[in-house]
Amino acid sequence: MIMSELYGSLVFDDRVMSRRLPKETYKELKRCCANDLPLSLDVANIIANEMKEWAVERGVTHFTHWFQPMTGITAEKHDSFITPTKSGGVIMELSGKELIKGEPDASSFPSGGLRSTFEARGYTAWDPTSFAFIKDGILCIPTAFCSYNGDALDKKTPLLRSMEAVNRQGLRLLKLFGRKTERLNATVGSEQEYFLVDTATFEKRKDLFYTGRTLFGARPPKGQELDDHYFGAIKPKVVKYMKELDEELWKLGILAKTKHNEVAPAQHEFAPIFTTVNVASDQNQLTMEIMKKVAAKHGMTCILHEKPFDGVNGSGKHNNWSLSTNFGHNLFEPGRSPEDNAQFLLILAAVIAAVDEHQDLLRISVSSAANDHRLGANEAPPAIISMYLGDELTGILQAIADGRTYSRRANCEVKLGVHVLPKFAMDSSDRNRTSPFAFTGNKFEFRMPGSAQSIAGVNMVLNTIMAEQLGKFADELENADDLKAGITAIIKRVMTEHGRIIFNGNNYSAEWVEEAKKRGLLNLASTIDALPYLTSEKNIALFESQNVLTKRELISREEIYIENYCRLLNIEAMTMLDMATMEILPAVLEYKGALVKTAKNSIAVGINAETEIETANTLAELLNAARQQIAELKAAVDKAHSIGIHIECGRCYRDEVLAAMNNLRHTCDKLELQTAKNFWPFPNYGDLLFSVH
Ligand code: ADP
Ligand code: MG
Repeated sequence: MIMSELYGSLVFDDRVMSRRLPKETYKELKRCCANDLPLSLDVANIIANEMKEWAVERGVTHFTHWFQPMTGITAEKHDSFITPTKSGGVIMELSGKELIKGEPDASSFPSGGLRSTFEARGYTAWDPTSFAFIKDGILCIPTAFCSYNGDALDKKTPLLRSMEAVNRQGLRLLKLFGRKTERLNATVGSEQEYFLVDTATFEKRKDLFYTGRTLFGARPPKGQELDDHYFGAIKPKVVKYMKELDEELWKLGILAKTKHNEVAPAQHEFAPIFTTVNVASDQNQLTMEIMKKVAAKHGMTCILHEKPFDGVNGSGKHNNWSLSTNFGHNLFEPGRSPEDNAQFLLILAAVIAAVDEHQDLLRISVSSAANDHRLGANEAPPAIISMYLGDELTGILQAIADGRTYSRRANCEVKLGVHVLPKFAMDSSDRNRTSPFAFTGNKFEFRMPGSAQSIAGVNMVLNTIMAEQLGKFADELENADDLKAGITAIIKRVMTEHGRIIFNGNNYSAEWVEEAKKRGLLNLASTIDALPYLTSEKNIALFESQNVLTKRELISREEIYIENYCRLLNIEAMTMLDMATMEILPAVLEYKGALVKTAKNSIAVGINAETEIETANTLAELLNAARQQIAELKAAVDKAHSIGIHIECGRCYRDEVLAAMNNLRHTCDKLELQTAKNFWPFPNYGDLLFSVH
C-alpha cells in the first residue's frame, strides 16, 4: 500500500468525517468540539450511522467503547452491530445513543470507594474530540468512564476537564494581548522507551512474566558501559519490527516519526510527532498496546516496565508539552515583536509559579512502585522537581525582576514592550539532560514519567496547575491600568517567590540534593512519601477551583494509587518467594550435591577435592542465608497483609517487604555467580539482554 492510502486508513478522522458527513452535521460536530458542548441526539444518530457504514465497509462487525480505567491500561467490551428485523433477518446498526453512551458492567474496575458493588453501573461517554478507529476488526470509540453519579473513574475525564480549564483561563489572558484566539490547546509529544527480548527466553523467567521486571539476576560481564548501543546500528530483526510498528501506527493515524537504539542493551526509543494532548494520550495507550502485539509477531516481547533490569538504565517516557492556539501559535515560542515577548515571558512566569507551587503534584503524577526504581538512580532525574530554563532566559527574567538592563550577550536592553528581546539561542548542545523539567526551545520536556505510565495523569496536572496561574494572572491584569507595568510586576513577584525552582546545573549531583534542601524544595523519594499530598487542602482547592477533580474523586484516586502500590509489591514478593523456593534453592542444592559426589569420588581415588569442597561450602553458607531471608520475606509480607490496605500498609511494603526482597536478591545473585550455568534454573542477564540477534 502506498503511504497516502496507508496513513489513517483505520481512523474515522477529520478527513473522513468532512467527506462523509452531511455538511451541517459536520459543522455542528466541529462547533461542539471547539466549545466543549454536548452533541444533540439527532446529530449523534447521523454520525453513528455513518461511522457504522464506514466500519462495515471495512469488514467490521463489532464496536466497543474504548476507555481508560484507573488500571492505567485500556479496557473494551465488544458488542456487535447486529439488530434483528421483524422479518427474521438482521441488519447492522449503531444508534446515536449507543455511540454517545455505554454502560459496561464495571464493578471490577478500581474505583477507590466511589462505587459500591450494589451500584456498580459505570457509564462510558463518547469523546468526540478523539477519533474512532478500527483495531483487530473492532470499531473502537474513545470514551470517558464515570460512575452513576458522574464521578470520574478513569484517566480521560480529568484530562478533558483540565483541557477545558487551561483553555478557559488561557483565553482570558490572551484576550488582554488583543488576540482573537478561539481555542487554546495543550499539545504533547511523548518519547517512549522500551526493551525487546526474545520471547522464548523471556518466558523462562517467572519474574518477567508476572511482574515485568527481573527480581533476581547478577550483572553480566557486559552492560552499557561502552555506550556502544546508544544510537548504534539497529539489528535486522529489530529493524523489521520497527518497520511493521511504524506501518501499524500510521494506519491508525499515529505520526510515528523517530526510532533509535537507547543506552541499555536491548533498549530502544520511539517518538511520534506531537498533537493535541487527549489525542496524544489515546495514541500513546494504543502505541503501547501495538508495540507489544507487533513484537509478539516477531518472536519478541516488548517490555515497557520502568526498570526491568538492575544495573542498566530503565525506561522513561519524556513528555514534551506546550500550549498552542487554534491558529497554531505556540505560546512557548519566543516571539519576534516586543508584544510577543512580553506574552512569552508572562507565560513562562506562569509555568515557573505553577511548577514551584505544585512540585508535589508533579511528583505524584509520575509516582509508581516501578518508577521509584528509576527516579534518582543517576539515569533519570531525581525525585526533586526543579526546572531548567538555561542561563540566557533565567538571566532575562532575573534582569526584569531586578529592574536592570540585561546585557549578557549583545548590549540589549530588556524593557517589556519597548525593545525586542535578545534572540536567545537554545541550541541542543547546551541542553541540560539531567533536569526533570526542561525548557527545550519552544516546549517543556518533563522527563520523569515512567515508560509504562499513561500520560493522561501528568498532562492533567500540567494543564490544571497552568490554568490556575493563568487565571490568577488574568485576575490581576484585567484590573491593571497599565498592562506592561502589570506584567513586569508579576514577573518580578514570580522570580522572587518561585525563582528557587529554577536550576540549570547537574541534577544528578549530590550537591544538588543539599542545595535543593536549602532552597526548601520537596524531595519525595518514594511513591509512598508522595501520595498523601494528593489530598492536601491546597490541592483539593486547586482541583475543585479549576473543575478538574472533586474532593471525593481525589480521595478515591489516592486510595487507588496506594492499593496499586501494595498489590504490585505483593505480587513481586510472592513471585520472589516462588522462584527462590521452587527454582533457585533446588537447583543450587542439586549442583552442591553434584560437587559433593565428585569430591567423594575424587577422594576415593586419591585426587585432591579442595575446589569441590570449598565451592560446596560457600554454597552451603549462601543457601542457609537465603533460607533465612526467605523466612524474613514471608514474615514481612504477612505483616503487610495484616495491616489492611492504606498508607501504613504501603509504608510496610516499602520499608520492610522491599528491604527483605533486596536482601534475598543479593544472596541469590551471589549464588548465581557460584553455580554452574547448566544448573541455573532460568536465563541470566546476559541471555536476556543479548537475546535478540
Ligand atoms: P529530543 O531531542 O528530546 O528527542 P525532539 O525535538 O525530537 O526532542 O522532540 C521530541 C518530541 O517533542 C517529539 O514527539 C516532538 O513531536 C515533540 N514536540 C515538538 N514540538 C512540540 C510542541 N510544540 N509541543 C509538544 N511537543 C512537541
Ligand atoms: Mg527527549
